[in-house]
Amino acid sequence: MSLAQELVAALRAVLLGPKPVALHEPCFAGNEWKYLKDCLDTGWVSSVGAYVDRFEADLARFTGAQRAVAVVNGTAALQVALRLAGVVAGDEVIVPSLTFVATANAVAYLGATPHFADSAEDTLGLDPVALARHLEQVALTREGRCVNRATGQVIRAVVPMHVFGHPVDLDGLQKVCEEFGLALVEDAAESLGSYYHGRHTGTFGRLATLSFNGNKTITTGGGGAILTNDEELGRLAKHLTTTAKPPHPWAYAHDQLGYNYRLPNLNAALGCAQLEQLPEFLGRKRRLAEAYAQALGGLDGGRVFREPPDCQSNYWLNALILDRGREAELTPCLEATNQAGIMTRPAWELMHRLPMYRACPRMALPVAESLAGRILNLPSGPRLLA
Ligand SMILES: *Cc1c(COP(=O)(O)O)cnc(C)c1O
Repeated sequence: MSLAQELVAALRAVLLGPKPVALHEPCFAGNEWKYLKDCLDTGWVSSVGAYVDRFEADLARFTGAQRAVAVVNGTAALQVALRLAGVVAGDEVIVPSLTFVATANAVAYLGATPHFADSAEDTLGLDPVALARHLEQVALTREGRCVNRATGQVIRAVVPMHVFGHPVDLDGLQKVCEEFGLALVEDAAESLGSYYHGRHTGTFGRLATLSFNGNKTITTGGGGAILTNDEELGRLAKHLTTTAKPPHPWAYAHDQLGYNYRLPNLNAALGCAQLEQLPEFLGRKRRLAEAYAQALGGLDGGRVFREPPDCQSNYWLNALILDRGREAELTPCLEATNQAGIMTRPAWELMHRLPMYRACPRMALPVAESLAGRILNLPSGPRLLA
């Protein structure tokens, strides 16, 4: 049997339910209808309301962050978090090439340039060792600032992304950031419910961001949040994302260029109901990951990616990583599984290969380039096991 045929047989043994099986379906099994009805009954559907405040408080409690600010989506959250971390037009920001496009787009929206870095095979996220080596070669420190010698631009921040929910090497990255004077901003869009050394991802950087898009671990339809442990940054995040209007009984003025990025109360109501079910979702996703690990354990040619040591992953999206040398089997595996009604997909096209980012600065990207040809995401929704 070919690897593709073996894969389909093994996946069928885990996914016994009806086909087709989506990659990640939302699950509304809690108080969603009740809280939404409450919004409609009371008229509080838009930009302010009790569910927004409650969702923010619940998120802060769950993650252990000092402050959570709910916004319209994860991309907007990242744009504002980067601005609050001091990123200005003309800066460079280190981002992984192996990520969803939003990570790089948020940098570009600020007029800054993404500077692409390589990934580590053992976390799938930014490799701190390779990054330190690269910065030693290309950067110099001038008045406490890290400057790219080739472009003359300030390298202001590093944005690691916890790929498929698996925590990156945060200790290693924090050290690199300290050494080179860079702000750490975590793109934790995929890692709600993931822990690094016992602490929730998204609480290590100066700021971090979450996404509640329809395919994420919990969803608000569309939505996102900014997390921070810095009270002043939290206050500013709320201010900037609510049009920068100072509170006043009647005056209607704005003290700087703000954004209308607030999450409507309707979406926050969904979020409150979804957060109540998060522990249940996480348990189900962990059981599915274990079932995949067992069923695909004997596969010759690839392995299911498991959470890094000392980490607890939310297993947002399970991934089969083909062995080096088996790249030619990725397309047959994609074809066979999708034909069998089991939706799978490859990793994102690498950022440095996209037309708008082709000319951006970058380091050698051997691991990201290799991984991109070997990743196959598997159906991972919370309802796939009985
Ligand atoms: C989902 C996601 C985002 C944010 O997406 P939105 O659709 O804007 O909420 C950002 N970064 C990564 C890595 C993501 O997976």
